[in-house]
Amino acid sequence: MGGRFLSIGECMVELSQADDGHLRKGFAGDTFNTAWYARACLPADWSIDYFTALGDDAMSDEMVAFMGGAGIGTESIRRLRGKTPGLYMINLKDGERSFSYWRDSSAARQLAADGDALRTAIEASDVLYFSGITLAILSREDAFTLLAELRRAKAAGKLVAFDPNLRPRLWSSLDAMHTMIAEGGRAATLVMPSFDDEAAHFGDDSISATIRRYRQYGAAMVVVKNGPDGATIGDGTDETLVPAIKVVRVIDTTSAGDSFNGAFLAHYLQHKDAVAAAGFAAKIAAKVIQEYGALVAPEKLKSVK
Ligand code: ADP
Repeated sequence: MGGRFLSIGECMVELSQADDGHLRKGFAGDTFNTAWYARACLPADWSIDYFTALGDDAMSDEMVAFMGGAGIGTESIRRLRGKTPGLYMINLKDGERSFSYWRDSSAARQLAADGDALRTAIEASDVLYFSGITLAILSREDAFTLLAELRRAKAAGKLVAFDPNLRPRLWSSLDAMHTMIAEGGRAATLVMPSFDDEAAHFGDDSISATIRRYRQYGAAMVVVKNGPDGATIGDGTDETLVPAIKVVRVIDTTSAGDSFNGAFLAHYLQHKDAVAAAGFAAKIAAKVIQEYGALVAPEKLKSVK
């Protein structure tokens, strides 16, 4: 029996350079990428919806159409008059990628401004997903509105998954980031951090320290991703390392963590076995990093069992 999965955050317009020097347009963003992979890995009796705010311009229309075409529900997306989506551009110089962002006044920053709309969407869902970027783009007041709704969902026994996705540049201060990420952990039942980020920005000296910290905030389960060194599941007293798949030729690591999260959740929701879910997620992430771009076509993932 399926259920209803809701991912909450910001999807942006992505511009990247094609081989001929032209700019290619796409759509991506951490929580949307995870919704994409959850959709690719869950059977049709599961619905996957995206919650965000967009504008009333042609680009917002196109993004909604793109999501719908990918089988992701857009019913609860708020549309704000006169606003536009955020935009980022991938710059490539001597094989090195760098990113420029235009997102300071994106519509998504107001995704939690209407508390009733948020509550309706969350109440209609069985599984919630959000990230540290979702929290970072909101005003403090709106972030607390969102967190309160997520805590209600958690109290109602729903699975609430959170990827801290630490991005110091999106926060007004490190203090603000630390405080709000801890609140995110408190609202979640499952936290999916990346160890290198947590070590750099929280000073964790081991994966166990990361697990301990998020469990102290109140998450029942923590899955710490650690690139080619695999992922460690901490669910109380046990810590289980699930190795990554050996990839000889990494093409593009964009979305490694997002695809891992989507695949992990898809498997876990069906089989309730975190170790098996992490094994499956490692295989999907390994496929994703052998292709260009954030969103790998579902057909290319079909062979992964
Ligand atoms: P993030 O993208 O959030 O920083 P990680 O780099 O930890 O996340 O990667 C997430 C998952 O993707 C890892 O747990 C692993 O399964 C897979 N992965 C990432 N990099 C590699 C790699 N070089 N080789 C094999 N698997 C990888």
